[in-house]
Amino acid sequence: MDITVIIQDKEKEFIDVARDIWSYAETGYEEFKSSKRLCDCLREEGFEVSSDIPGLPTAFIAEYGSGRPVVAFWSEYDALPGLSQKVQPVKEPVTEGAPGHGCGHNLLGTASLAAAVAVKELIKSGELKGTVRLYGTPAEELLTGKVVMVKMGLFDDVDAVIGWHPERLNMVMETPTSAVYQAKFHYKGKTAHAAVDPWNGRSALDAVELLNMSANYLREHVPPGTTLHYSTITEPLAPNIVPENATAWYFVRAQKRDTAKSVYERLVRCAKAAAEMTDTHVTVEFCGGCSDYLPNRTLEKYLHEAMESCEPISYTEDEMDFIREMTKTLPGSLEASQAQVRNDYGINVSDKLICDFFAPLSETKRKTCITGSMDIGDVSYVVPTAQINIACYGYAIAGHSWQVAAYAGHSVGMKGMLKAGEVMAKGAKLLFEDPTIIDKAKEELKDSLGGKPYESPLPEGYKPF
Ligand SMILES: [Zn+2]
Repeated sequence: MDITVIIQDKEKEFIDVARDIWSYAETGYEEFKSSKRLCDCLREEGFEVSSDIPGLPTAFIAEYGSGRPVVAFWSEYDALPGLSQKVQPVKEPVTEGAPGHGCGHNLLGTASLAAAVAVKELIKSGELKGTVRLYGTPAEELLTGKVVMVKMGLFDDVDAVIGWHPERLNMVMETPTSAVYQAKFHYKGKTAHAAVDPWNGRSALDAVELLNMSANYLREHVPPGTTLHYSTITEPLAPNIVPENATAWYFVRAQKRDTAKSVYERLVRCAKAAAEMTDTHVTVEFCGGCSDYLPNRTLEKYLHEAMESCEPISYTEDEMDFIREMTKTLPGSLEASQAQVRNDYGINVSDKLICDFFAPLSETKRKTCITGSMDIGDVSYVVPTAQINIACYGYAIAGHSWQVAAYAGHSVGMKGMLKAGEVMAKGAKLLFEDPTIIDKAKEELKDSLGGKPYESPLPEGYKPF
């Protein structure tokens, strides 16, 4: 059976699922309708579906087949707050202030469904032997869903994991991503009249300011690639009242999880010192964290082979008009993105608005580290993991934007989604056909870990919400 044909035959069904999840636009741990939509479809396709994951009501695990190998895909379906957007090249929300799929996770979740269904068909027909699984992983944007699932041991018996993310390029995602630890520091002071008896007040805002100041000094003395970002949350009181409550919310990112952890621990000491200095009280609320992503070159080579065996996406005139109009919404961004492609791959795309090629593997690129984070990082520490990117929007577009939300509901995004499903299923097929690839991938993971056991960023008893 041909994977391309299987996906083409069910194309309408997959597009309907992606459109529905796009319209639900549910944020992390609230994805009840989205998760159910995927589970219903998986059950109809003959998968065993378990959505009874303790503490994670919007997670699920779907499985088809039996025995080894166990090859898994992951699905994400959470939206981003405030990014509601109509499918049009002019900024206008469907509902003012509502969430929207500004990271394209409606496409992400559905392409993985498509890949799992295609592999299932091959197992059903007897062409492949083993088990295919689809993990429904909630709240990717909060960077905790998969980390909790890994901590529960839900990935322990998987042999290889394959995934993807909508992007501007068609490529294997061969770069590590950063680990992150995040916490809120809640200060409690004592209110007083700021002019009449300030000596009776203890300012929680002073504590936040001192914490931020110490963090800004800390920046110089952390390993390269470590970043700290924060926002502060205070009640909007008048300046003539000493603030009783104030909170600073921090992300500490680093190229490796243990670095992020050690810098985070130093930041906690800064937070406690700020409380000491201001005679206030601080409560540290650990909000979660995830590990850096460990790419697996062995799997990447086969995913790349799978990608190259596919036909590139072609676009209609109407779709090109949409891409052209969307490009205009971000002046200057197209040229910068085209220059990046030239720099990374030596390919001139100065007359192109959207990626129409499959990028080669790059030994240079894989040595860099992405400054952002993904919660698949923790999965990659326990199972060999690889992923691809497929162009679902034009070169000019940046992630987490209203433009991505528009593309994620448009046929350009849908075409990218179907292609991603096809590539992932073809990549998985190669692993089923030759289990020695999985053995090699596991050896590589062992080498990457260097004998150190996986340590979860999450403390015992952690609850994600
Ligand atoms: Zn995303």
